[in-house]
Amino acid sequence: MARILIVEDEARIASFVAKGLRADGHTTTVVGDGPDGLDEALSGGFDLMVLDIGLPRMDGFELLDQLRSQGSRMPVIVLTARDSVTDTVTALEGGADDYMAKPFRFAELLARVRLRLRQHSAGTPLDDALEAAGVRLDLRTRRATVGGRDVDLSAREFALAEIFMRNRGNVLSREQLLDQVWGFDFDPGSNVVDVYVGYLRRKLGADTVETVRGMGYRFRG
Ligand code: CA
Repeated sequence: MARILIVEDEARIASFVAKGLRADGHTTTVVGDGPDGLDEALSGGFDLMVLDIGLPRMDGFELLDQLRSQGSRMPVIVLTARDSVTDTVTALEGGADDYMAKPFRFAELLARVRLRLRQHSAGTPLDDALEAAGVRLDLRTRRATVGGRDVDLSAREFALAEIFMRNRGNVLSREQLLDQVWGFDFDPGSNVVDVYVGYLRRKLGADTVETVRGMGYRFRG
């Protein structure tokens, strides 16, 4: 599938991420400091990079800055400590496509990796925001608003809302949603999709997501 570069100096996290991505069929290369990470990223041998911010010799912000200034459009998912989300928003402005706050569940990272790879290979320009039915998702800062008011969505709720809005007007089956948002670690009999659709309706508006009997769900708009 894809060749993924992991730039992370904490061996435990690097191996956890690498192992999971390999189980999903990708090949992985792990690099533990900034300058080596930049060299690898510029080699052209990778489809996506998972990038830690706190790195020896050159931090993730500078790496990203140099990567973009040398013209690379490789999708980058930044890993950051949960208390540095403000810094991360800066990173997004500096050219990251997405971020995960540590600690994170692997399934959430995998959902982001799959989404970024799909967009990149489809040549779809990375949208800054999605808007429909009064709902706006800012894909860089991961903020959601309804009628201009902030709504607090979890990472998973945001991912689900994003899939719905990218496919608005189309029916998505539970299996499609499970695969795209949860990845391989949920069994198909799980009702987790229905539970999360309930959360989204409560937060985004009861009629934003329509149930299509026997088929799945559809985002209005
Ligand atoms: Ca680190």
